[in-house]
Amino acid sequence: MKFGQFDLSIIRESSFRLDGGAMFGVVPKTMWAKGSPADEYNRVLLSCNLLLIDTGDVRVLVETGMGDRWSEVERQRYDLKTLSGPAEILKDVGLGLEQIDFVIISHLHFDHAGGATRMVDGQLVPNFPLAKYIVQRGEWDFAFKANARARASYRPDDFVPLDESGQLQLVDGDCEITPGVWVRLTGGHTSHHQVVCFESNGEKGVYFADIMPTKSHLSPPWVMGYDHFPLASCDVKSEYLARAASENWLVVFDHEPGIPWGHVRVGEKGRFNFEPLGEDSLTFPSGKGKALAQVV
Ligand SMILES: [Zn+2]
Repeated sequence: MKFGQFDLSIIRESSFRLDGGAMFGVVPKTMWAKGSPADEYNRVLLSCNLLLIDTGDVRVLVETGMGDRWSEVERQRYDLKTLSGPAEILKDVGLGLEQIDFVIISHLHFDHAGGATRMVDGQLVPNFPLAKYIVQRGEWDFAFKANARARASYRPDDFVPLDESGQLQLVDGDCEITPGVWVRLTGGHTSHHQVVCFESNGEKGVYFADIMPTKSHLSPPWVMGYDHFPLASCDVKSEYLARAASENWLVVFDHEPGIPWGHVRVGEKGRFNFEPLGEDSLTFPSGKGKALAQVV
């Protein structure tokens, strides 16, 4: 999709399911189940939506998804379905893995960093051989010292190889990655969680990552039970939503299984509403777009 001078593509890497109670924190099931129906195990459908930003000069991939290093037992636990590996995905937009210049990872949980590496002949290597991988320094440090509550979400195999190959680029707080693309520290989900803001020819957008994973999380207090700092998530959501609505930002949700991008409007009683783009916005220029339209 054209966005100013940029070209944006949503890449739906996988679908999976997580416990609905954990996804909506203190919100009662009687409220969240209307928008996100639960299966027999109380799990709700999610997907990993990566965002490819082609600025014309450089290509930035936001997030890497779950990747393919999962056992059958784990796949069943999360009902994980890999929809497209990175090589096939990029082929659809006429790119090779080596043509990605930057990979921004919002935080190092396995559903964001899992696709950062792959196993080749028994050795872990970065999936994008020439890319710089952008990670907040505080997130990197925390990943190695997470306590028992937080540890299960971090798998060192997802990110240690990035350091070993010299492709890791740690950043401290807000930072411009390339002209028109910024990472901004939000905290909330983890202490050093970051979102990605982008702007071209006056058009503005934000990839919320896990401070707002689906359109059902639009209301500021609807934050995840997974969040390390849920009150901070609520505050940062309020700030971003107000700006997104008043400046007509394109908003992108990382785990929305329906159409994952659109605009935010202020409705009755100051409530935020989501207005999705049309389904045609998900089709690649090549007309393929097979991984995108619907989750199976
Ligand atoms: Zn996530």
